[in-house]
Amino acid sequence: MQVHRSIQSLRAALKNARRIAFAPTMGNLHAGHVSLMEQARHHSETVVSSIFVNRLQFGPNEDFDKYPRTFEADCAQLDAAGVAHLFAPDEAELYPAPQQYFISPAQAQDSILEGACRPGHFRGVATVVAKLFNIVQPHVALFGKKDYQQLMVIRNMVRELAMPIEIIGCETIRASDGLALSSRNGYLSPDERAEAPRLHRQLAAIAEAVRAGRQDFSALEVAAVSHLREAGWAPDYVAIRRQQDLQAADARSPLVVLAAARLGTTRLIDNLEI
Ligand code: AMP
Repeated sequence: MQVHRSIQSLRAALKNARRIAFAPTMGNLHAGHVSLMEQARHHSETVVSSIFVNRLQFGPNEDFDKYPRTFEADCAQLDAAGVAHLFAPDEAELYPAPQQYFISPAQAQDSILEGACRPGHFRGVATVVAKLFNIVQPHVALFGKKDYQQLMVIRNMVRELAMPIEIIGCETIRASDGLALSSRNGYLSPDERAEAPRLHRQLAAIAEAVRAGRQDFSALEVAAVSHLREAGWAPDYVAIRRQQDLQAADARSPLVVLAAARLGTTRLIDNLEI
């Protein structure tokens, strides 16, 4: 695997690549990231990944400074997963001057769920992903459903801005107890780690209830929020929504249940398609 610190070096290396699949990350890689790279191999000749902890998508009181940085171990995993080129710029390379042009996602998507809890988050995500797309110029790009709303924002950005890139959503990889793999799981104490799968269990219970015919969605949401509170969590939301646009659920559309909740100081998100 070649590691590129500069845009120029990456562009030179990709000059003659025929079909590029790209999966961006913020590093501290786990099996969820690796599954993206493995799927990328099926879609292209040349797999490109990136590691960049993007300051633009972190709020002022979020974990940008303490976000885990494990570059050597990440490289070994990417290499083993068949990644040919890793783009790992520093901030001065990607943002040589403060970024002044931004991609602002549609209000309808930016103002709900993660967007409501993390103002400016999706603007930071869309801006860096657009910039990375311009640098890598992939034919295919892969993102995890773990970040369901992020996947939707990127799909819509690509469609509305006519970017010639196929977006592929990849299934969430979980630990054997159901907890969705996440770099932030490393913040959990042993006791919190033992408690953490409750989030997935709540989502699974809601999905099962809806599949069995329950249509009192807000009662299900409220019950899950209070159950999590009683177990010591601070939930931001539990929400049953339409898969296509994450707007209010109706009986005819495919649905997804999404949740975000803080356990101690760690904020976890998860979702399940119903
Ligand atoms: P991150 O490094 O957290 O920005 O994630 C990079 C990519 O990996 C994003 O597309 C995430 O949605 C995806 N991802 C993160 N966790 C998982 C997981 N448990 N399963 C599948 N994809 C994941």
